Amino acid sequence: MSETMKEYQPRPDLLAGRVILITGAGDGIGAAAARACAAHGATVILLGRTTRKLEAVYDAIEAAGHPQAAIYPMNLEGAAPKDYDDLAATIEREFGRLDGLLHNASQLGTLTPLGQYDVAQWSRLMQVNLNAPFLLTRACLELLKRSADASILFTSSSVGRQGRAYWGAYAISKAANENMMQIWADELEANTPVRANSINPGAVRTAMRARAYPGEDPNTLPRPEQILVTYLYLLGPDSKGVSGRQFDAQ
Ligand code: NDP
Repeated sequence: MSETMKEYQPRPDLLAGRVILITGAGDGIGAAAARACAAHGATVILLGRTTRKLEAVYDAIEAAGHPQAAIYPMNLEGAAPKDYDDLAATIEREFGRLDGLLHNASQLGTLTPLGQYDVAQWSRLMQVNLNAPFLLTRACLELLKRSADASILFTSSSVGRQGRAYWGAYAISKAANENMMQIWADELEANTPVRANSINPGAVRTAMRARAYPGEDPNTLPRPEQILVTYLYLLGPDSKGVSGRQFDAQ
């Protein structure tokens, strides 16, 4: 059963003092989430594969006078376990802490019957959508455990909660993220301050949505900035103790 906190009103300093890592932070929901987290006081680490886009988000955060962000260019498709360990070591060296981890980057792949799914594309997509959240969580776990109140947020989709024809590797990767979230939540519940939840953004006006639904009028959809309060709730202290649960942003 999924829940929503879309009526939640985050206070301006909700995330003050927190360090939050966001993947896919250069565009779409990730970029908007990064700006919103910074606007609520967080130091945001912007991870993505296109440096130019990350720089634009960095500049917007700086121009708004929010805590200075950091850029970490990384292509999750080709990243090896050691790259994740290096990232965690860099965060520890530069910031000494990590309080939030938003697994947001994803590939849509192609919408095609499962039996005809291109095997090479399947592997590439799983590397980004499934292996990356696993490897990144694993690498950052010790840092997260040291935070007084750490939150891991997995990004799902309606097709991750109920499979649908032609959504192939994307839907399966999202369902696996839901399951991975539950396992992390269950394992971390006992003796750590780390919680894990999942969020389904719902239909949002982004490049990925336009690729999935080319005939749709984007103006009928909310912009990423309009769907973020549940993200802020889950990344901030007001959701302390909430773990292993599924949320809808809309
Ligand atoms: P976008 O395609 O607009 O943005 C995805 C981001 O992920 C981009 O910044 C992209 O980088 C980055 N990314 C993709 N591949 C890699 C990679 N190999 N390494 C590093 N970064 C990568 O998607 P949305 O903002 O729409 O989606 C955000 C999340 O929300 C995703 O998990 C998606 O599945 C989910 N979602 C979105 C919905 C929607 O309606 N928009 C609905 C349901 C779920 P670059 O810009 O360089 O390509």
